Amino acid sequence: MSAVSGPTRTPALLGGKPAFEDPVTVTRALSPDRALFEQQLDRVLGARWFTNHGPVVQELEARVRERLGAGFCAAFCNGTVALQAALVSLDLEGEVVTTPFTFPATVHAIRWTGLVPVFCDVDPETWNLDPARAAERVGGRTCALLPVHVFGNPCDVDALDALARARGLRTVYDAAHAFGVRHRGRPIAEFGDLSVVSFHATKIFHTAEGGAVLGRDPACYERLALLRNFGIAGEEEVRGIGSNGKLSELHAALGLALLPAEAEERLARAGLTRRYRERLSELEGVCFQRIAPDTERNHYNLAVEIDPEGFGLTRDELHRALRAENVVARKYFHPLCSENPAYRELPSADPAELPNAHRLARRVLCLPLFGELGEEGVERVCEAIVAIRANAGAVRRAVC
Ligand SMILES: *Cc1c(COP(=O)(O)O)cnc(C)c1O
Repeated sequence: MSAVSGPTRTPALLGGKPAFEDPVTVTRALSPDRALFEQQLDRVLGARWFTNHGPVVQELEARVRERLGAGFCAAFCNGTVALQAALVSLDLEGEVVTTPFTFPATVHAIRWTGLVPVFCDVDPETWNLDPARAAERVGGRTCALLPVHVFGNPCDVDALDALARARGLRTVYDAAHAFGVRHRGRPIAEFGDLSVVSFHATKIFHTAEGGAVLGRDPACYERLALLRNFGIAGEEEVRGIGSNGKLSELHAALGLALLPAEAEERLARAGLTRRYRERLSELEGVCFQRIAPDTERNHYNLAVEIDPEGFGLTRDELHRALRAENVVARKYFHPLCSENPAYRELPSADPAELPNAHRLARRVLCLPLFGELGEEGVERVCEAIVAIRANAGAVRRAVC
């Protein structure tokens, strides 16, 4: 008999033994094989070439381009600066329609480049930008869409691309969560004008800090290369504005050493995701994100939606009870970007216009998912959730 369907234990919050002795976080950064990493480090140290688009960054760009099936890959120091450069490279002016249910960087990139974010509600099941509502947000000043493939789930790319075409808009996808995702047999980076990935340590593939813009037009790559290097076009030519968005050779060395591990990690996470689904989908009050059909996922993370009526506890109460179990679940994305003091005065930030995003911000919880957690770890998390749910009344009294 599985641990979950067996007799339930006492939740730690009510005096039971915690599910884990030490805190278990939602993710654990991939660490490279030492020998592989040293090999790459030796290249950097031997050449004494530490930054400025050296051979290691160039190789990483080529390998990622291949891995992700992109026309080009322009590496950056992080995903946020890559997003900013992507927006600047398209010569945009005016408003950008985006989702409030995302990491703050998405919206900051819009603002930081002098553009105006316009929030649009998400689909209640896919949690991604709702194309029909996005169409309603497009006005005379709209220049672009910035949708996010939330938790690696492909947006409704056909509808968004059709909207962009019909209204003459550019589309930049925030693909920070979508490294390696394929949709209808095509790499996710094939959709829209540009896609941006993050190589932050919390992402499935990383360079500690890093990111990239993916696209197809070689002229666009040249533009991005100027933008990330102060606009320097040659020894005696500086062209237009630029920033310092370069990825260092040391970071790229880590990336090259980690690329082989990424495939293995994805497989491990796929197995653990299956286990989570088997264990939790039978629980009333727990739902999963609806994934776009015909999608090859990367299993970047494991998010569930807690319906307080079916579950008997709110997401926040479950979150508190899991902390006592040493399960450090995370409330992504709460607060919403539209609740940030910098943006909440925008007309589009009105909560009445964003009901689905607000409901998800109250209900979604990310559970631990990383290869080393193992099936045993997943069992323990699920067993804890079952026990907490079975003791909902007492748990609620204990947390309030
Ligand atoms: C991580 C992330 C970013 C930014 O990435 P950094 O590399 O940390 O700057 C952007 N958008 C989303 C949705 C992210 O999760």
